[in-house]
Amino acid sequence: MKTIIEPFRIKTVEPIRMTTREQRLALIKAANYNLFALKSEDVIIDLLTDSGTSAMSTQQWSALMRGDESYAGSPSFYNFEQAVKELMPFKHVIPTHQGRAAEAIVVSIFGGENKIVPNNTHFDTTRANFESAGVIALDLVIEEGKDPACDHPFKGNMDLEKLDQLLREKGDEIPLVMTTVTNNAGGGQPVSMANIRATKELCEKYGKPFFIDSCRFAENAYFIKIREEGFGDKSVSDIVREMFSYADGMTMSAKKDAFANMGGWLALNNDEWAEQARTRLIMTEGFPTYGGLSGRDLECVAAGLKEIVDEDYLHYRIRSIQYITEKLDAIGVPVMKPGGGHAVFVDARKMLPHIPALQYPAQALAVELYITGGIRGVEIGSFMFGRQPDGSEVPAAMELVRLAMPRRVYTQSQADYLIECFEEIYRKAGEIKGMEVTWEPGSLRHFTSRLKPLDIAE
Ligand SMILES: *Cc1c(COP(=O)(O)O)cnc(C)c1O
Repeated sequence: MKTIIEPFRIKTVEPIRMTTREQRLALIKAANYNLFALKSEDVIIDLLTDSGTSAMSTQQWSALMRGDESYAGSPSFYNFEQAVKELMPFKHVIPTHQGRAAEAIVVSIFGGENKIVPNNTHFDTTRANFESAGVIALDLVIEEGKDPACDHPFKGNMDLEKLDQLLREKGDEIPLVMTTVTNNAGGGQPVSMANIRATKELCEKYGKPFFIDSCRFAENAYFIKIREEGFGDKSVSDIVREMFSYADGMTMSAKKDAFANMGGWLALNNDEWAEQARTRLIMTEGFPTYGGLSGRDLECVAAGLKEIVDEDYLHYRIRSIQYITEKLDAIGVPVMKPGGGHAVFVDARKMLPHIPALQYPAQALAVELYITGGIRGVEIGSFMFGRQPDGSEVPAAMELVRLAMPRRVYTQSQADYLIECFEEIYRKAGEIKGMEVTWEPGSLRHFTSRLKPLDIAE
């Protein structure tokens, strides 16, 4: 059969409130052209993030009821711990309320002024956590990973030569090496097993711990299965176990590849770090058998981890991203190729070449997509990354609009509607205006800044 169908049936539905173009023009203006400021009920198709937006299964909803809310030693914690260790055999599993809380604990152990932490590409919260502790967060993704049009099977790979050079020259300043799977800020692109293994070997050579930012571990493992020589016959679970066998620690957002609406964890092998982490956890999150979570959340994560490695699901998941990517490409919309694991990325620098980087072409495109079809995506470009810690502004490596697909939520006809909206935008791309920021906060400006299109007077 040619068509790959959604491998699930819908039991409960959430109605979508439809809006007109005129209504959306007023709504986006009232939101100061920042898509984060829109009310979600004013959005028709919400592709802002795949984080915490998954549809839970019947298994997960029933697991919720089994949640045990004991302060210490809840059976829900042990179910959670066992489900994590089944895939990621770390000695210590420490629950947190979401991924960034796990990152903050890692920073409390390894951070410090002028230290350097390399990653393929730091995600925005990871970067912000490190930078707030004075750490230089360095991105060392391979060159192919910076070119949206370059077709390479593992564009999330770490540049091993650059990493080797950095470890050789600045080893004393490096407390930790990280890699992000899949590489979210770099287009949801996977990292190969060979690259993970080689990164671990370099870390061993220089005596550095190696951590994996693991949010989309199952999508990454599926790419390894279908793209990397020698993995075609292995199960996704076995591939996941091999990936983590090379790591000394992991941070995780269960809001991604655990099908949960909330949750995360930090896992470690080293006893001393685990003790430091748990001490910190008690201060900031909660007792070590619940972290920042309810027992019922822990149960949902445990059930979700069993479902996320299902290969029929992953086949459908990866294929649905490819479907949109291929259709947009066929229209002429410049998209990141090949399709990533959780999102479609549109190259706004190429689509709107008349808008300079510091007039935020990807933000302008994301706003236009909302006005045209009520679809909410997110800018990943100079608006998100341009402001430097010293206050200056520098164009980002890429100007992308990310359309993140919530897991098991939208159908193929909704995907076709998205493609039609792009057809319309593509025809009048030359008329889209750049934007300027009229107010911004001290850091992480993309969440709360106010903007306006450049041709509109105050
Ligand atoms: C989402 C994400 C995080 C942070 O996780 P939260 O649960 O949102 O705090 C960290 N790294 C990557 C790669 C992510 O995608």
